[in-house]
Amino acid sequence: MAFINENYTKLPGSYLFSDIAKKVNEFKAAHPEANVIRLGIGDVTKPLPSAIINAMHAAVDEMADASTFRGYGPEQGYDFLVNTIVENDYKARGLDISADEIFVSDGSKSDTGNIGDILGLDNIVAVTDPVYPVYVDTNVMSGRAGELQANGKWNKLVYIPCTSENDFVPSLPTEKVDIVYLCYPNNPTGTTLTKDQLKVWVDYALQNKVLILFDGAYKEFITESDVPHSIYEIEGAREVAIEFRSFSKTAGFTGTRCAYTVVPKTVMGYTKTGEKVSYNKLWNRRHTTKFNGVPYIIQRAAEACFSAEGKKQIKDIIDYYMNNAKIIREGLTSEGLQVYGGVNSPYIWVKTPKGMTSWGFFDYLLNDLHVVGTPGVGFGPSGEGYLRLTAFGTLENTKEAVSRLKKISI
Ligand code: PLP
Repeated sequence: MAFINENYTKLPGSYLFSDIAKKVNEFKAAHPEANVIRLGIGDVTKPLPSAIINAMHAAVDEMADASTFRGYGPEQGYDFLVNTIVENDYKARGLDISADEIFVSDGSKSDTGNIGDILGLDNIVAVTDPVYPVYVDTNVMSGRAGELQANGKWNKLVYIPCTSENDFVPSLPTEKVDIVYLCYPNNPTGTTLTKDQLKVWVDYALQNKVLILFDGAYKEFITESDVPHSIYEIEGAREVAIEFRSFSKTAGFTGTRCAYTVVPKTVMGYTKTGEKVSYNKLWNRRHTTKFNGVPYIIQRAAEACFSAEGKKQIKDIIDYYMNNAKIIREGLTSEGLQVYGGVNSPYIWVKTPKGMTSWGFFDYLLNDLHVVGTPGVGFGPSGEGYLRLTAFGTLENTKEAVSRLKKISI
């Protein structure tokens, strides 16, 4: 008889986005004439730019010729991509990251989930609240989260509230913590930490031997100069932080799939007997055992993101989304709503008016204004009383949605 991993049975059955889809579908069935605008999606809508498409086409042709055909490649990524990442994303910014510290993968969702494979099950894990749900759910699956309580929290996780009350700056935990997930610019709140604010966390991690798992999926949306693009801009971070980066939101790769994780050789974990072990060694072992590399064609596409033409085209797309963010932010602010994020991130975090719940505000927007957002409470208990809007729609839909949102009577 084979037994299941019972931790999986603890995960709540329905998922936030399927609940939303169900409500929207029901509404559309009842009101087929309504023009429903979705500002809830976390997916990009613009197609891949030509520099990337051309690189993919060229790579496809290489696959058709015996002299240039590629089979299995290095699990960690081809040198041409790894070296391009090191040069452009790190060396050009004066950051000391070497090629054997980069692991190319099929996504940061996989990497932020799979990183748990190399972490002991007794570690105490902290998450900011609200949070990208993958960090929590993958710790539930491995057994580090414990049991779900009536207040929506898992009893073994440490939740660090990030709300308008603390300006979305997480306070250092007062209890013992071994691992902390930080995501900046943040999904879902769209807020960021300055270099000084992130330094507080790096110093804390150095003093307390805490491992920081830093998710930088939205770094390309940063517009302000005091916001770090990489945690390694903070002195000492090479000793305590693993960084996750993705081409998904940066370059429209949500359906193309490419990301990378940086595991500096200087980040150490400990055995039960106190012996130091490099996470780089462990992640290399895990990655080469369980993963066979990102397709050659996709790695050539990722490489093209760093060409002069690729950079320019990607920037134009990001500027387009950030213009949407500005329209949402300014439009809602002018109506007296409290709005956060949207300056260094494609996410806008709206405080619900009149003390409505997240779902109450969601229902109101859907039923009365035909606009879809994402209820903040779906991202954690501290998300209650907020709703997330995204800048990934078209300009036309964004403008139309904002003009409808201006009809909110608050
Ligand atoms: N990390 C964060 C914070 C995200 O919001 C997302 C996607 O929404 C991801 C990671 C997933 O990235 P990928 O598409 O590379 O798996």
